[in-house]
Amino acid sequence: MSADSPIDARIPLAKAPGFRWDAADAYLFDIDGTLLNSRDGVHYNAFHNAVRQFFGVSSKIDRVPLHGNTDLGIIRAVLRRQGVSDAEIDAKLPLMTAAMCAEVERNAAGMRPELCPSVKELLRRLDAAGKLLAVASGNLETIAWKKLEASGLRPFFAFGSFSDRRELRADIIRWGVDEAQRRLGSAAAVYVVGDTPSDIQAARAASVPVIAVATGIFSLQELKSHRPDLCVACCTVLLELSH
Ligand SMILES: [Mg+2]
Repeated sequence: MSADSPIDARIPLAKAPGFRWDAADAYLFDIDGTLLNSRDGVHYNAFHNAVRQFFGVSSKIDRVPLHGNTDLGIIRAVLRRQGVSDAEIDAKLPLMTAAMCAEVERNAAGMRPELCPSVKELLRRLDAAGKLLAVASGNLETIAWKKLEASGLRPFFAFGSFSDRRELRADIIRWGVDEAQRRLGSAAAVYVVGDTPSDIQAARAASVPVIAVATGIFSLQELKSHRPDLCVACCTVLLELSH
């Protein structure tokens, strides 16, 4: 990175000794806050409509932790707060999530994903270097792919791990790591890229390195306190980083 880069001048890096961000064989990217931020209500509205339709609950999701949570984790937290039993949640969940996904598909033309800085350039560079690229997201699968299609990023990713079958982020990440190593061999190095402390903790639980980007709601300082292997303001810094 050049010494007069404005990002370099303002933002200190937090880097584990000897860590090379481009040394992995495969990368698992979180979506919201890492690749893009949604500037529309398509996903949010589908959530509220489905919760109302299936559980008669009009509670807003804003009062449960959203960032770093998974769609299923958010649904369960909202409904538990309203006194809905886990048995009822589990019984209705498959139809409810199907309704959410169907609504997002109907309204996909209204999606307005805003790419985080330099994301496309970063993916192009990793793709050209022959890296296996995948997403590991707390979104439901259909909704995740719709966001990636709307943002033009879908072709970069070979597979994804989502919250449909795995409610906890740690399990979503672990499955993604396992799938990458099934494809590339068990010795393949897999890195996680995410924007929340939950991503960092989930990568740690899966024993893989993690790069944190401060393009979601968490500040660089806050992310650094969770000690990722590398913490940067945005992907532009990765592209400029020399070893
Ligand atoms: Mg995120």
